[in-house]
Amino acid sequence: MSLVWGFLVYVPYAQALSIDTVRFGTHPDKTRIVLELDQPTDFKAFVLNDPYRIVIDLPAYEWNAGTIKKPKNGLVTDLRTGKLDTITSRLVVDVTKPVAIRSAFTLPASASAKNRLVIDFQVVSANTTTDEKKKFFGELEQQPAINPAAKTTNVNAKIAAPQKIETQTNTITPARKPTETSKVTNPFTPLRKPHIVIDAGHGGQDPGAIGINKAYEKNIALASAKELKKKLESTGRYKVSLTRDRDYYIKLYKRVQIARAKKADLFISIHADSIDDKNVRGASVYTLSNKSSDAQTAKLAARENRSDIIAGVDLTHEDKEVSDILLDLAMRDTMNQSKFFANTVVSTFKNHNIGLLRKPHRYAGFAVLKAPDVPSVLLEIGFMSNRQDAALLARSSYRSKVASALVESINRYFQTVEKNQSQ
Ligand code: ZN
Repeated sequence: MSLVWGFLVYVPYAQALSIDTVRFGTHPDKTRIVLELDQPTDFKAFVLNDPYRIVIDLPAYEWNAGTIKKPKNGLVTDLRTGKLDTITSRLVVDVTKPVAIRSAFTLPASASAKNRLVIDFQVVSANTTTDEKKKFFGELEQQPAINPAAKTTNVNAKIAAPQKIETQTNTITPARKPTETSKVTNPFTPLRKPHIVIDAGHGGQDPGAIGINKAYEKNIALASAKELKKKLESTGRYKVSLTRDRDYYIKLYKRVQIARAKKADLFISIHADSIDDKNVRGASVYTLSNKSSDAQTAKLAARENRSDIIAGVDLTHEDKEVSDILLDLAMRDTMNQSKFFANTVVSTFKNHNIGLLRKPHRYAGFAVLKAPDVPSVLLEIGFMSNRQDAALLARSSYRSKVASALVESINRYFQTVEKNQSQ
């Protein structure tokens, strides 16, 4: 038995590691770099000073990552790749300030994601870095010596792979002190505006809730989504997309796919609820959880998730269950950001005198909130089953008021995210 295990352990990888994607994520308390890889890997990560940079050593890899988008906080100035020796490659992330790695870990491939190496880092004071830089994260089998003349080349979207990597000289030195000599000359792709995807719930053969005034939820949702898009675009600060701009149905998981394909920074699904108790009114904001806040919320989620059935969609190709995704570590930060945005919406709505449901931030397993990497909320702007709410929602002036409050929420959300990143 042990022989079999030994054999398995020492089988080398059949092919070189491939770095398929490099993504940066900006969070209130840290910056995250995620490498998507074609196979599991060992790694070693640490920080160096003068100039400030994060170093990630990996087994010799092929660079297949296309466009790299620089994080919006301005912290990262460049990304370089090079070979240290025949078995080790190095990725260098140049940063403007001293940083420390907070955690570094790998995630196995799943049905919806590749193998990943995740490194979280944050800005620290210059004297902290002296200690932090001695910390190594991960472990990588090293050659006895490393070529000090190893060079890294800039990685840039406009210079597509294959990258030219400097051939190494035969100089061997016992000192493990590699230097990166290439200058920062190639900028990343220009910084982009936050991309917000607005999803008008229901549509086409699925009307959603039917109001006490016979209005359809799908139409209220679409009118509200368009109004929000118009207002957001007029600020000049955002790129905005709608999942639908007309009256047709889109499968729930497709709405998630749209947000992910656009690498959205925020996803907002707009609805208007209905309930047996005609007295219940007010707006509410939902974020993802595998446990609903209460029975009423669980019913609502079940109703919204039934949209695909109402629209006659075959559910056999639906993607994974919410509970599976919740197991993924990478999802936690997205959920924290979603919650932060939901709370921002609640406080802004209060300031704008928009009626809210009791305990307006709630949790449930809505299918449209399942993107693991896009902060997402589902907003029920009012109750179609309540006479006053239905009358308000029918008015463009009220939908405009709601949209203004949402724009303010979105401004506050991104201001906070950016401020936290620049500290
Ligand atoms: Zn709905």
